[in-house]
Amino acid sequence: MKTYNVTLIPGDGTGPEVTEATKRVLEATGITFQWDLAYAGATAQDKFGTPAPDSLFESIRKNKVALKGPVTTPVGYGFRSVNVALRKRLDLYACLRPCKIYPGVPTLFKDVDIVVVRENTEDVYGGIEFEKGKPETKKLLELVSATTGEAIRQDSGISLKAISETCSRRIVRFAFNYARAHQRKKVTAVHKANIMKFSDGLFLATAREVAREYPDIGFEDVIVDALCMQLVRNPSRFDVLVLPNLYGDIISDLCAGLVGGLGVAPGANLGDDIAVFEAIHGSAPKYAGQNKVNPIAMMLSGVMMLRYLGEKEAAERIETAIAGVITEGKSVTYDLKLNEADAQVVGTSQVADAVIKKLRKSNKK
Ligand code: NAD
Repeated sequence: MKTYNVTLIPGDGTGPEVTEATKRVLEATGITFQWDLAYAGATAQDKFGTPAPDSLFESIRKNKVALKGPVTTPVGYGFRSVNVALRKRLDLYACLRPCKIYPGVPTLFKDVDIVVVRENTEDVYGGIEFEKGKPETKKLLELVSATTGEAIRQDSGISLKAISETCSRRIVRFAFNYARAHQRKKVTAVHKANIMKFSDGLFLATAREVAREYPDIGFEDVIVDALCMQLVRNPSRFDVLVLPNLYGDIISDLCAGLVGGLGVAPGANLGDDIAVFEAIHGSAPKYAGQNKVNPIAMMLSGVMMLRYLGEKEAAERIETAIAGVITEGKSVTYDLKLNEADAQVVGTSQVADAVIKKLRKSNKK
């Protein structure tokens, strides 16, 4: 039997607990993995003095596939996001986040099955920023004033938003190809082109052009604020959403909320030949070490990894086992119970035990 070499990044906060639970479930399928342990984020900062050591990139480049726990990024100070660095340096340009309702999940909605395709490498995530009061910021303000006649306040900080035709084209193509391969009917391009005519406007114009190459798939565009309203009113009218980086980040959390929350929302960062699988959620540091958070989002990311590796049958079996655990509702974490004090709330590792028990039963059939 084939052994898969996979980089395993436990991450920070609750990351090690959800990745361990996921590793156990993946191994319970009988598939063998050679896990190549790598560190990122605050854990790597403590160990190696940098949040993104070379060994992290070397391992992922070598194995081409990684399963990654969430990492902590300091807010407003300290090191820049390791996630952004990974996505940019490995050119993981497509962020794929399926959001669908599993029966039994507490949610206000039914029939939501949306796939969010987020551009992962540019937009305001480029990390090109100008700090208030710095000489280079002053120079930029002078340039803006001289070329546009518009004055920006002297005490401004500036983050550059750049959206290219190249990256817009490849992400929209990715969304259409995904739609075609997965029998999806419609792609919706999301933007704010009425205000940002040269960045979002370029994204929209490119999306319209690409859409003409796919006459078999429906296409529409929607302004991001209108999308938010429509998503919470009638989410089942959406199928595949394609968005620039920032809107994709925000809207995927919104979509996760529609289908039961961050505890059940998986994801993948995909390039042409490298893939990093991780849940949408962050490191939830306040729950670290408490065996509390939901590992299902991470497990479903593992299911996406199995499908990527061509292990479709094993992926199906895990997904069915997870769906069974959710529907039964006897071995789920606090976030899947409307009443947190519910006696039947279990911890992270007990969810893995329950999924593995179901898998073993299906192995015997
Ligand atoms: P978060 O997703 O870590 O947590 C927000 C809240 O959502 C938690 O307090 C918890 O109530 C809930 N939650 C999250 N994951 C859950 C799970 N698996 N099960 C049950 N409930 C869950 O977001 P945050 O607090 O904004 O960020 C914490 C840290 O994580 C920050 O440093 C941030 O930069 C980082 N982050 C990392 C990633 C990543 O590595 N991909 C993604 C998002 C945020």
